[in-house]
Amino acid sequence: MYRTRAALALAALLAAALLPVPAAVAGPVDDAAGTPAQESSLVADPSLVVLVNALHPLEPLDYEPARLADAGSGHRMVPEAAASLRRLLAAAAGAGHALRIESAYRSYAQQEALYAGYTRRYGAAYAAQISARPGTSEHQTGLAADIGLASGECSLLACFGDTAAGQWVAAHAAEYGFVVRYPEGLEQVTGFRYEPWHLRFLGAGPAQEMAALGDETLEAYTERLERRAAAAARPRHVLRPAPEHPPWYPATFPRWALGLPA
Ligand SMILES: [Zn+2]
Repeated sequence: MYRTRAALALAALLAAALLPVPAAVAGPVDDAAGTPAQESSLVADPSLVVLVNALHPLEPLDYEPARLADAGSGHRMVPEAAASLRRLLAAAAGAGHALRIESAYRSYAQQEALYAGYTRRYGAAYAAQISARPGTSEHQTGLAADIGLASGECSLLACFGDTAAGQWVAAHAAEYGFVVRYPEGLEQVTGFRYEPWHLRFLGAGPAQEMAALGDETLEAYTERLERRAAAAARPRHVLRPAPEHPPWYPATFPRWALGLPA
């Protein structure tokens, strides 16, 4: 009787141990899905962190944001991004840097026309390095903006990054939820040349976390988020049976190995 009860209790214990531990009760979980843990609470709205590039096109290709708001001078963005860009530009102005928006939301049709224009002017290979095919542009998400000096100097040129304003933007963008999306020397990762003027909105939590963790590209950061989500989905503290002895392993130690006379 005792043995049976003990066996049942053990079986129940094992079964419980083998069940996936719900993320919510497993303590702080490194998880992108927004469970209440220190790090993951930063990722308030995962849709803002969406990765869009040549390998990750929008679905559908002619995707349009549900709502757009004026970010300034008639340039539209997703409302949260528009409001944050306004705050960033105001803070930059307060620090003595007069900036303007060069471009923000672009529809599929607008991107198509732009891409066709670049292709005609520069050829297909170069056009692909400086512009995204329609359906693969962050501008089409309403979460990206190109900014530049109000003077027009270095407009959409790498030298914007060397200006005091460009450096202020690189240093402070994350506070407003933006990242400089195409950093210098990471063309192999992002597919784009250095674009110090192209800001991508992620929300302040993810943007600051990305900077704090040293993830230089959204490609690297979203890969990290995927690893986190996978780790959170994996069962933890699973009891596993000890591995079988491999066939070459002696069932009993030879006497000499135990220091006994043969
Ligand atoms: Zn851009």
